[in-house]
Amino acid sequence: MGEFEVIQRYFANSGRHRSDTLLGVGDDGAVLQLRDGYDLVVTTDTMVAGTHFFPDVDPRALGHKLVAVNISDLAAMGAEPAWLSLAMTLPKVDDEWIKAFAAAFSETADYYNCQLVGGDTTRGPLTLSVVAKGQVPRGKMLSRSGAKVGDYVYVTGTLGDAALGLRLCQGQVEVSKKHSAHILQRFHYPTARVALGQALRTTASSAMDLSDGLYSDIQHLLRRSQVGVSLDIDKLPLSQALRDSCDHTTAIALALSGGEDYELLFTVPENKRGTLDVLLSPYGVPVTCIGRITGVAGKLELKAGNQPFAYEHHGFEHFV
Ligand SMILES: [Mg+2]
Repeated sequence: MGEFEVIQRYFANSGRHRSDTLLGVGDDGAVLQLRDGYDLVVTTDTMVAGTHFFPDVDPRALGHKLVAVNISDLAAMGAEPAWLSLAMTLPKVDDEWIKAFAAAFSETADYYNCQLVGGDTTRGPLTLSVVAKGQVPRGKMLSRSGAKVGDYVYVTGTLGDAALGLRLCQGQVEVSKKHSAHILQRFHYPTARVALGQALRTTASSAMDLSDGLYSDIQHLLRRSQVGVSLDIDKLPLSQALRDSCDHTTAIALALSGGEDYELLFTVPENKRGTLDVLLSPYGVPVTCIGRITGVAGKLELKAGNQPFAYEHHGFEHFV
């Protein structure tokens, strides 16, 4: 099967059909109609076999995750997802593999209201690259650069589950039967916090998504906002599955440095903090205050309650 047939067969009608897609798959370029008064948000993420995923991973999980991690970046910008482009480098055309991958890609794109509008396939080591495009009301995007001294720092969901899932896949940890499905789900099938990101447009002073782990990701936000942060490790939201599966020190290390959580981290000024619970209650995603922004530019301070917390960060290690 050649490139044209692969695209025609599996990707011609991928994701949600959108009326604002004037030209999609099949032409030299896509033509997309932005809503009046909206700005375009564009983000790219690449996944390489052996670096970002196991080469023998279930292609359905891969199709899902590729879409979700890109949409997560749009969520972090407060954008409404709309369109995806996909560049695939494949070692060979394995019909069953592509079929499963394409089905999951389409299903997940559809879930997030996204249409696949173009792409490219080439021969080579398995590499998947997505460009995700979304829309945000003019001037209302979230960014990493708006955090101010005194703002409260929040995260959505729980941290460290995906990192535990990776270690479970690698056979490095044991997780009880009761928790293993949840943990593997969190690793293979992350959820982009799209509705919540949009809800935060009026309230958050800055936002980002957590892909490499809280400890390293938040430093990008500190740099962009030219502030510091004090985090209380006792406040980190840890799932029951994580608590039950490892000792406290390991749980904290996975939550701080593990990566692939795809939760949102955001800051809220004191005067908007009171409305946050009401604002976010319809979304069913817990949010937890884990610290405050400080004036010492670039400084990440960890505390356990009122005591300084000594921590040696080991970055997210790609796993092959
Ligand atoms: Mg990101």
